[in-house]
Amino acid sequence: MSSPPHTPPHTPRTSRAPDVLVVGGGIIGLVTAWRAARRGLVTALVDPEPGGGAAQVAAGMLAAVTELHYGEETLLALNLASARRYPEFAAELTEATGQDLGYRRCGTLAVALDADDRAHLRELHALQQRCGLESEWLSGRECRRLEPMLAPGVRGGLRVDGDHQIDPRRLARALVTACERAGVVFHRVWAARLGVGRGGERATGVVTADGTVLEAGRVVLAGGSLSGRLAGVPEAVLPPVRPVKGQVLRLTMPGAHGPLLNRTVRAVVRGNHVYLVPRESGELVVGATSEELGWDTTVTAGGVYELLRDAHELVPGITELPLTETRAGLRPGSPDNAPLLGPTALDGLLLATGHYRNGVLLTPVTGDVMAHALTTGELPDEARPFTPRRFGAAPAVPELPDPPAPSDLSEQPV
Ligand SMILES: Cc1cc2nc3c(=O)[nH]c(=O)nc-3n(C[C@H](O)[C@H](O)[C@H](O)COP(=O)(O)OP(=O)(O)OC[C@H]3O[C@@H](n4cnc5c(N)ncnc54)[C@H](O)[C@@H]3O)c2cc1C
Repeated sequence: MSSPPHTPPHTPRTSRAPDVLVVGGGIIGLVTAWRAARRGLVTALVDPEPGGGAAQVAAGMLAAVTELHYGEETLLALNLASARRYPEFAAELTEATGQDLGYRRCGTLAVALDADDRAHLRELHALQQRCGLESEWLSGRECRRLEPMLAPGVRGGLRVDGDHQIDPRRLARALVTACERAGVVFHRVWAARLGVGRGGERATGVVTADGTVLEAGRVVLAGGSLSGRLAGVPEAVLPPVRPVKGQVLRLTMPGAHGPLLNRTVRAVVRGNHVYLVPRESGELVVGATSEELGWDTTVTAGGVYELLRDAHELVPGITELPLTETRAGLRPGSPDNAPLLGPTALDGLLLATGHYRNGVLLTPVTGDVMAHALTTGELPDEARPFTPRRFGAAPAVPELPDPPAPSDLSEQPV
């Protein structure tokens, strides 16, 4: 979007209160702000470090089919809707920013190493077929023909050509740039409290950690795993979101002898989920643990050991690779593993949170759904099952100790 003459792109276009204030600049808050601004809404965003959050850790699998779980068929529809939008979304974001997102349509191979894993994978295949999804059962030999570096013991697998990947760090960076170019005003500070009008009938903005009052027509709470912690939000509308820790490793693949892996490879090894996501840049992401430990983001010897042990069983050659990064992040989990999108019972307060293990996948559809909700006041049909109101008037906010002070919350590489 071109800026008016003599107005740098970062300058607020107006001094009046914005139409929309987004609390949280992870990928979900950013895509909401970008899409809202593109629809002509004057938009601001408050986060001390926009572009940070779980996307700095996430693997970036766009895995609607291989991430299917029993009882999550409603979520599947939203996941598929977002996966379908990805090519156009990625192209639009690249055009708006000139940045490469590492979007790679490489497909996924889910494999089994023993009889139990094979039975588990056969069940997943049957569920996928009942849901009308495309996946193909392969013998162990066929799996190794596709991915020659797989262990000889692989007993079979599922080829899913529609599950792709993107680099979430690049996605987050591009969304920050896209927001800036669309005129979104950034307040690089914590929101300390929701502003609620006299009588408590309406959200009016936020008070920041430095005491500044930021007023807005509507507030979108997109604080990831911290969404249930914003002071001033009436208990009846506090999102029941909890942190689910995930540890991830990054290794570097040599480029000289062709790629180590051509596509994402994943498995359940002795009940633990493990995946290897090869990027075109040479980065190999190995993940992820799933731990209910509150706000803890410590990388542990046990976590690293288990990931390397399981990944090594799948692809023995990985032990030769340099280990370049170990890191833990927090998925924003919700009671039914699905996001909370749209208006709440408090006038002027909307939610875009609870994306749990699919936030990267759900970024395009979330942007569209939230822009629709902000411009019309209604959720589009595809998002109606994800209304925050499904949890009733007083959702159970998980009992957890307080998170660390904001300055300690950024997840540091170890
Ligand atoms: C290990 C791991 C692997 C993952 N792998 C995948 C994957 O392969 N595919 C996939 O689709 N998804 C994956 N995910 C999930 C995905 O990363 C998340 O669902 C998504 O990033 C959540 O984004 P968010 O913007 O909602 O929250 P966050 O990324 O947590 O961002 C929230 C932001 O809000 C800010 N904030 C919070 N409270 C306030 C406040 N009071 N004031 C101001 N700012 C505030 C924070 O600073 C932060 O920047 C993974 C996650 C993890 C941890």
